[in-house]
Amino acid sequence: MQVAIVTVGDELLAGDTVNTNAAWLGERLADRGATVERVVVVPDRVADIAQEVNELRAEYDAVVTTGGLGPTHDDLTMEAVAAAVGVPVEENEEAVAWITEHTDYEHADLVEGTTHLPKGCRMLPNEKGVAPGCVIESVYVLPGVPDEMKAMFDAIAEEFSGDYRHVRVVEADEPESALVERFAELRDRFDVTVGSYPGDHVRVKLQSTDEEELDRAADWLRERVDGLDEVDEVDGVEGADEADGV
Ligand code: ATP
Ligand code: MG
Repeated sequence: MQVAIVTVGDELLAGDTVNTNAAWLGERLADRGATVERVVVVPDRVADIAQEVNELRAEYDAVVTTGGLGPTHDDLTMEAVAAAVGVPVEENEEAVAWITEHTDYEHADLVEGTTHLPKGCRMLPNEKGVAPGCVIESVYVLPGVPDEMKAMFDAIAEEFSGDYRHVRVVEADEPESALVERFAELRDRFDVTVGSYPGDHVRVKLQSTDEEELDRAADWLRERVDGLDEVDEVDGVEGADEADGV
C-alpha cells in the first residue's frame, strides 16, 4: 500500500515547528508494511491543501493529512479536503454526540466550526483533544498536535498494510566513496534495497521482504567491508508481521 503524507502549517514551512508528525507517521506506516512515497508540507491555505490532496489521492492508495483542524482562522484542512473530494462541510452529528459524551464541552460551548466535517465522512474521535478528524474516500484527516495525532492514528493503524520489509542496519568504518563498487555488487547479487547514510560512520540500511535473502546480503557485505558491525536490527513493532494483510 502506497501512502502520501500531507503536513499542513505555515509554522512547519517557517521552521518554527519541526515536522515530527511526518517522521512519526513514516516510521509507523513502514512498521505496518505500507510504503510512504511522498511527504509534503503545505501552508494554511485552502487552495494549496486541496490541490495537493487531490493530486496525491489520484496517485496513491491513501493520503494522510495532519494539522489545521479545529476552529481557528488558520484551521482550514477540513474545508480543503471537502473541496478536494467535491463535497460540502456540514455539522457532523456523530462528532457533536461524541464530544458531548466524552469531554467537558457542551455543544453550545464549542467554537463554531469545530464539528464541521466533510459530508459523508467517517468521523474519527479525538481521544486526546476536542477537534475530530475524519476519513473520506482514501483521505485520512488527523490533528496537528502530536499527541492527538498519534492517538488518532493508532485507532486506525490497522487500515494500513503491505508486505513488511525487514531491515538490517549495519555500520561501516570506511569512507562512503570507497564503498561504491561493493554496494553495486551487493545490489546485483541480492534482491535487497541498499541505503547509505554517512555520519560519523556510514550507516548501511538493507531492506527486503525476504528475511533469508536479507541475511545472506548482510553476511556478504560484512565479509567484505572493514569494521562493519551490525549495530541495530530494526525489525518493526512486535506483532507487525501478523498484522492484517502483511
Ligand atoms: P487544534 O485543534 O489544537 O488547533 P490542529 O489539529 O488544528 O490543532 P494545528 O493547529 O495545525 O493542529 O497545530 C497544533 C499544534 O501542533 C501546533 O503547536 C503545531 O506547531 C503542532 N504541529 C502541527 N503540525 C505538526 C507537525 N507536522 N509536526 C509536529 N508538530 C506539529
Ligand atoms: Mg489548529
